[in-house]
Amino acid sequence: MRKPIIAGNWKMNNTKAEAKVLIQELIPLVKNAESDVVICVPYTVIETAAALTKGTNIKVGAENVAWADKGAFTGEVSAQMLKEVGAEYVIIGHSERRQYFGETDDSVNKRTVQALKNGFTPIICVGETLDEREGGVTEQVCKRQIIGAYAGISASDAEKTVVAYEPVWAIGTGRTATSGQAQETISYIRGVLKELYGKTAEKVRIQYGGSMNPSNVSELMAQPDIDGGLIGGASLKAADFSKVVNYK
Ligand code: PEP
Repeated sequence: MRKPIIAGNWKMNNTKAEAKVLIQELIPLVKNAESDVVICVPYTVIETAAALTKGTNIKVGAENVAWADKGAFTGEVSAQMLKEVGAEYVIIGHSERRQYFGETDDSVNKRTVQALKNGFTPIICVGETLDEREGGVTEQVCKRQIIGAYAGISASDAEKTVVAYEPVWAIGTGRTATSGQAQETISYIRGVLKELYGKTAEKVRIQYGGSMNPSNVSELMAQPDIDGGLIGGASLKAADFSKVVNYK
């Protein structure tokens, strides 16, 4: 009932020239995908990516969005600017943004509100650090992040969002959560969304992210609450990303 969504997060990788090569290689490899396919790319690459993927089944996303419409926000990029160059999705609250750039549950909420107001599909990232998992507070952390991200957001808007559960200790480390761990926490997150939105929670797609790759994708995707993946490292090679996309 929920269409799977596989999204690449290129992070700070690929110039326009490099992006062109990767996207041209990727297009034929994912053209028969049964999942939604998204590539979230650096700001400087969005326009190129949108032009190259026009008329294909690949959608383009940004890796962040400003919470304000315009003005004195040095270094930020507005929703209108992103729309103009062809982005339709946006990653919000990635753990690298939280860890290195001071994103908080409040800034994640404000960016999410702005993304929804401008017709984007936000991919809202949540997840615990290793210390938090070992300290037994994974659920508390995810609950706080979800409640914070969705503050003031209506059920009809929540339905349009995607959540990415990304245990921080699994991102870029080669250490994947077991399918059981991922399912357990994602089902817990869906429960929190149920407390907030009732039945609408069944419609929200929740991805797993954290070293997802061609060899573990099938087992992760077989879990009942895992509706897709947010893929970092493995999205930088067309062969790997397409194998994740075509996981069946
Ligand atoms: C990510 O950046 O969201 C991510 C999951 O990275 P990786 O797949 O490299 O762990």
